Amino acid sequence: MKKNELFELTIEDMSTDGEGIGHLRDREEGGLTVFVKDTAPGDRVEARMLKEKKRYAYGRLERILEPSPDRVEPLCEKSRSCGGCTLQHLSYEKQLELKQKYVENCLTRIGGLENAAALMEPIMGMEEPWHFRNKMQFPVGRDKAGEPVVGFYAGHSHSLIALSDCPTGHPVNQEIIRGFREYMKEEAVPEYDEESHSGLVRHLLTRVGFATGELMVCVVINGNKLPGQETLVGKLQAAVERYNREQTPFIRLSSVSININKDKTNRILGFSGRTIYGEPVIVDTIRDLKFEIAPESFFQVNPVQTEKLYGKALDYAGLTGDETVWDMYCGIGTISLFLAGKAKQVYGVEIVPQAIENARKNAELNGFTNTEFFVGKAEEVVPRCYAENSRKYTADVVVVDPPRKGCDRTLLETIISMAPRRLVYVSCDPATLARDIAILTEGGFEVSRVTPADMFPQSMHVETIVLLQRTDM
Ligand code: SAH
Repeated sequence: MKKNELFELTIEDMSTDGEGIGHLRDREEGGLTVFVKDTAPGDRVEARMLKEKKRYAYGRLERILEPSPDRVEPLCEKSRSCGGCTLQHLSYEKQLELKQKYVENCLTRIGGLENAAALMEPIMGMEEPWHFRNKMQFPVGRDKAGEPVVGFYAGHSHSLIALSDCPTGHPVNQEIIRGFREYMKEEAVPEYDEESHSGLVRHLLTRVGFATGELMVCVVINGNKLPGQETLVGKLQAAVERYNREQTPFIRLSSVSININKDKTNRILGFSGRTIYGEPVIVDTIRDLKFEIAPESFFQVNPVQTEKLYGKALDYAGLTGDETVWDMYCGIGTISLFLAGKAKQVYGVEIVPQAIENARKNAELNGFTNTEFFVGKAEEVVPRCYAENSRKYTADVVVVDPPRKGCDRTLLETIISMAPRRLVYVSCDPATLARDIAILTEGGFEVSRVTPADMFPQSMHVETIVLLQRTDM
């Protein structure tokens, strides 16, 4: 087919990037899989050919001929241009169904599980899939008229889309964005320019303790100093006051900081920072546990779902009180402390030093004396501890909660030799989860239960909790 040629297509599935997928040729004819953005499974569409390769192609949606019964009106007017939410035009039930199926497919195709569907519990969804995010990271730039822009990147690009609000985040962000733009204008603060690696303000990060109302604002800069800091704090305080006048529960500006990132990189946060107002951390609670959180530390972004996720992890861990537990990739020690109340001893390991500082403080804050935390790469710390003293650093239960790239092979091999009775794998990427499951299955584990959890409604991201047990036990 020629470029720009029109064709009709039935959308059958959704890619992990949230593009609709259809087929123009059958497999017998050599199969051509076509990806079309902004479409939904069940749509019959007319599309224009953008790029055709041997086996796959990209088309642009021209016209919906017959809409899918699962289509809904997106809540956000920026949903087509913004790269954040790719599933807003799908009903929430359909989103959940797609995620359940996606996890099942990965476990079957990559993980080699023959009975994936039978092992899976239904995905844990939200009752109200909006305003769920406690953290936002807005890139900062400038529009053609020279006005500061705070927003999001468009899909597959770094062009900025201005936002005054985002319906997945906390509503206080709307006022914070307004106050921050006023500050940039008044103090003539230069925005960062990626291409020339010049200018100052890169990102605006906000995090709200949903249970406590404590607000953290962190400005990521390509430099050491932020001009007009008093103006900034004043504008943020005024923003919070405006919000509190209209809305409850109240928000309190607890922490304003800068984070220094002078690297030419896509990584948002740099490694060091400084508090310029209030506390260096905010506090939030999950169930009856309190957590201090620094700007550099990871903290689950969806508090309503986090409680369900950790509850399931605790359930899968099956603790009786006698166990030695390892929590690998432990962040600020959230899962560790959830488990510590039901275990004899918990060891946690995490690569970000600020997060481990939080974890130690959090153990103390909640009165735990049976925890020990290590800073470093899990794949280095765990093998070292285990080689040093395999009795002390044994494991009855292991929890892993790695970033999207999954677990390091060395770590998986160490876990296999530690031979815990139960291994709880919390994953934010079904494909790397399934890859690691194949290795663990080879090493003598068997998957006994799987539950997906929807931490990120309106996007294709899905979290999965898996219980693995040893076949020889
Ligand atoms: N379990 C925690 C954190 C999960 S996110 C929670 O639920 O809050 C994954 C964590 O792994 C992040 O805190 C990240 O900093 C950390 N991390 C990334 N690579 C790592 C590695 N190689 N070794 C140890 N921790 C790592």
